[in-house]
Amino acid sequence: MKKKLNDDLTLFYTNNFPYKSKYKSDKKYFVTIGIGGNIGNVKKRFDKLFLYLKADARFDILMTSPLLLNPPFGFLQQNDFLNGIIAIQTNLAPNEFLKNTQRLENRLGRKRSFQDAPRTLDIDIIFFDNKKINTPKLTIPHKNWANRESVIIPLKLMNK
Ligand code: AMP
Repeated sequence: MKKKLNDDLTLFYTNNFPYKSKYKSDKKYFVTIGIGGNIGNVKKRFDKLFLYLKADARFDILMTSPLLLNPPFGFLQQNDFLNGIIAIQTNLAPNEFLKNTQRLENRLGRKRSFQDAPRTLDIDIIFFDNKKINTPKLTIPHKNWANRESVIIPLKLMNK
């Protein structure tokens, strides 16, 4: 199902987005990740990511948002992006969690070229519990999350 919000923004409702788990998790940390992509079949890639996370005992998926199709920023000569949010519980520490999301990006075909370039799958850690982290590898909360429609709109709809 598809819902046009305005000339720029369209929401997509799929099997796994949005989703709400029936089960409670007893894992320690509550993590919010943002996912995005604009090359090839992004919906299919998001479904694969969902299934990988679901099959991995280190992660409990709590819920996901609907997906938002929205225009690129920075480098504008590229396709619109599809973005969504996944809320996860985990016992992994932030750096370990990041290693795993980077592994998943690689597994799903991520190639880095230049900043704001087209991408198959980008996974950003938006929040990690209520932690504030500022290291060369990790900025939590993710910088600029509050200014990005690609984060705010799915986040708002997920929590409805
Ligand atoms: P990008 O290519 O824009 O996805 O940036 C990837 C780099 O951002 C990685 O090398 C990470 O170490 C770094 N990074 C810093 N903060 C975060 C975050 N909150 N989530 C994901 N990556 C992050």
